[in-house]
Amino acid sequence: MQKREFVYQARAGRVVFGPGSLQHLEREMLELKSERALILCSPEQKETGEAVATRLGARAAGVFDRAVMHVPLELAKEARALARELNADCAIAVGGGSAIGLGKAIALASGLPIIAVPTTYAGSEMTPIYGITDAGLKKTGTDPRVLPKIVIYDADLTMSLPVPLSVTSGINAIAHAAEALYSRDANPVTSLMAEEGIAAFARALPAIVADPHDVEARADAQYGAWLCGTVLGSVGMALHHKLCHTLGGSFNLPHAQTHTIVLPHALAYNRHAAPEAMERIARALGSEDAAIGVYELAKRCGAPLALKDIGMSAEDVSKAADIASSNPYWNPRPIQHDALLKLLQNAFDGVAPRAASA
Ligand code: NAD
Repeated sequence: MQKREFVYQARAGRVVFGPGSLQHLEREMLELKSERALILCSPEQKETGEAVATRLGARAAGVFDRAVMHVPLELAKEARALARELNADCAIAVGGGSAIGLGKAIALASGLPIIAVPTTYAGSEMTPIYGITDAGLKKTGTDPRVLPKIVIYDADLTMSLPVPLSVTSGINAIAHAAEALYSRDANPVTSLMAEEGIAAFARALPAIVADPHDVEARADAQYGAWLCGTVLGSVGMALHHKLCHTLGGSFNLPHAQTHTIVLPHALAYNRHAAPEAMERIARALGSEDAAIGVYELAKRCGAPLALKDIGMSAEDVSKAADIASSNPYWNPRPIQHDALLKLLQNAFDGVAPRAASA
């Protein structure tokens, strides 16, 4: 049954969607009345960043190609100083959450408008959430100024995203939608988007594994990324995101893979506390059960299934359970230390979540 009372917060932003849509970049700069763009990208995507600068000609003020995961404060300061020095009046972030996160750090301090050109499925482009790491500690916050003003989804730029990263980045996005469905502030509109976003990835990921150059599948995955990113920016997350934050922050585990491995176990944990959400997740996946459906999708697409295979050590399992249960937060099922330890042990070993009746 749909909720009868809710708050729906729409977030302003313009989305330009479609393979080849990067050709509209100059038009979109004019939309912002911008004339000098600082282009941001990670070192691995330097060529893409420079191609964007070449396309813009005199409208490109410069390229900063050192974006890295989790936005170190010193790097953010350097990028802010460069934007000032070059007199940039917008930033174009081309890449995944790292490049877009750097753009957000600049916008937070200066209000510089961001055009995001996402090339992964992480979804940061649709959220007002930022993260900056200072002395090893990542601080996150929400500020409407960091929400990109324009997002260009061009599937052609995702063709080079390696298949393993495409799969884990896609399941990272599914995690946003799954938690949005049982969020405390879920509403009928975000739930529609979330279910549709999961269904898009359930179609697209196996097709991308079969043929990484299938432009229809790549565009379908971006459609899913847009929807899943939108719900991440609209409603609160729960256990799964907190656990992944702990695992990433305290044990330095890779972002998208960690999400992929933990999600089936977080869903199994919440299974009986959020039956309607689970039904919608399962339906979107074309599965009988939400947790098993995600596990099977990951397995079928060749994703890692065990934390022990991505750099976690056995003794960190209980440490992670201690950290994650020490700071209580909302979740449809209360956070219980021993149940959390079991969840983490299962994710560490990579065992399949049990069927609902088991
Ligand atoms: P990422 O941006 O670090 O990209 C991973 C790697 O893939 C990089 O080396 C990058 O250069 C490369 N890459 C990206 N697109 C490519 C392409 N099309 N072809 C070839 N290589 C490509 O990873 P991510 O998973 O997109 O982002 C993770 C970061 O984003 C984390 O720091 C996470 O906390 C943050 N994040 C923030 C939000 C938010 O709302 N603030 C949401 C999701 C993720």
